[in-house]
Amino acid sequence: MTKSRKDFRKKFIGNHRLSPETQMMGYGYDPVLSEGSLKPPVFMTSTFVFERAQDGKEFFELAYGKREAEKGEKPGLIYSRINNPDLEVLEDRLALWEDADKGLSFSSGMAAISTCLWAYLRPGDVIVYSAPIYGGTEFLIRNILPEFGIKAVEFEAGGNKPTLAPAIAEAKKLGRVSVIYTETPANPTNSLVDLHACRDAADALKTETGHRPIIMTDNTFLGPVWQKPMEHGADIVIYSLTKYVAGHSDVVAGAAVGSADVMGPVAGFRTILGTMCDPHTGWLIMRSLETLKLRMTAASENAKKIATYLDEHPKVENVQYLGFLKEEDPCYEIFQEQCNGSAGATFAFDVKGDEAAAFRVLDALQIIKLAVSLGGTESLMEHPFAMTHADVPDDVKVRLGITESMLRISVGVENADDLIADLAQALDAI
Ligand SMILES: *Cc1c(COP(=O)(O)O)cnc(C)c1O
Repeated sequence: MTKSRKDFRKKFIGNHRLSPETQMMGYGYDPVLSEGSLKPPVFMTSTFVFERAQDGKEFFELAYGKREAEKGEKPGLIYSRINNPDLEVLEDRLALWEDADKGLSFSSGMAAISTCLWAYLRPGDVIVYSAPIYGGTEFLIRNILPEFGIKAVEFEAGGNKPTLAPAIAEAKKLGRVSVIYTETPANPTNSLVDLHACRDAADALKTETGHRPIIMTDNTFLGPVWQKPMEHGADIVIYSLTKYVAGHSDVVAGAAVGSADVMGPVAGFRTILGTMCDPHTGWLIMRSLETLKLRMTAASENAKKIATYLDEHPKVENVQYLGFLKEEDPCYEIFQEQCNGSAGATFAFDVKGDEAAAFRVLDALQIIKLAVSLGGTESLMEHPFAMTHADVPDDVKVRLGITESMLRISVGVENADDLIADLAQALDAI
């Protein structure tokens, strides 16, 4: 038992460090504990039987932070809102991609986002956040947090240095800055946030005020394969697992990863709020993780072909594909620095015309589905202005370049020529 425990958490062979894509098939799971089953069973149980009353007492002491863990002591299984074997294996595997100590899974991306914010914001605090941002996150920050006495100051992604500093200066006047919240690339424009600049701002706040804000980064668009925000200054990396990680458009789930210290309060809040993932969904996501790199690679190769096709199309303009960034664009350097070479597979573009022209294209699609969401095996298209970003005030949309002629595509793993044939005939509808 002791030996197998050691093996299933192996990170190196000699000096050779194992890659996450290899680890997704075995890391953190000990077949000896499950009748030798190659795959982890789905632990569909709400609660766990204690062998002795003393065990139950000790498990609770540890879970509720009433004492420190003894050397080598692992938290005992108690109740599936607190922990569950499927979620523990899943969370260990999610953390591996970012080389983080701790991962936590949630029932949705929004559950991850709201639990992390809840853990770190208190009445009177200020959150500084990048824009544009996922519509649900925007609504939470703009409309719900103020009801709890939390003020928000926005800065613009896209070479954020000129707007980050004034935002921090304003935020400092309003109260304690406790979170810098970022999304990069930003949905739907693919604007990038300079995380190094955020880290410098957080360090400066620590020096000036004695309190360092936590930097949170939503890494749903490129992560965890093409971008690792913790290497660039993020303290907590957040995911809608619904998208690329689960990757088959069949579950809704979320995650947050970070250092053990930073994730401690988030774990505590998750236990009490009950925002965890369920075991069956967790198991499905482990299955998805085995092909994550393959799927993201295939989708991004397709996306490159499709972006190139659209860029040359006479009825299309402003293809916001990261691979097309020009050197003079402030995002160019950030892309080189923060992203691991791939431009991902979700991007927006404008059709020449108005909302009606954009709708005609969507209605004419035959293979690509007209649906919100992204990151699945199948290609999806939608109209951010009227759909995913409907909640964002019109003037803000205009300022951030979210136009009525904009369409967003999430390129899947189909045959790229088939997708191009579909786009060609749909664009004829304009
Ligand atoms: C979809 C999405 C979310 C929200 O995730 P859910 O799983 O739908 O709750 C958050 N951020 C980004 C960037 C997203 O695309």
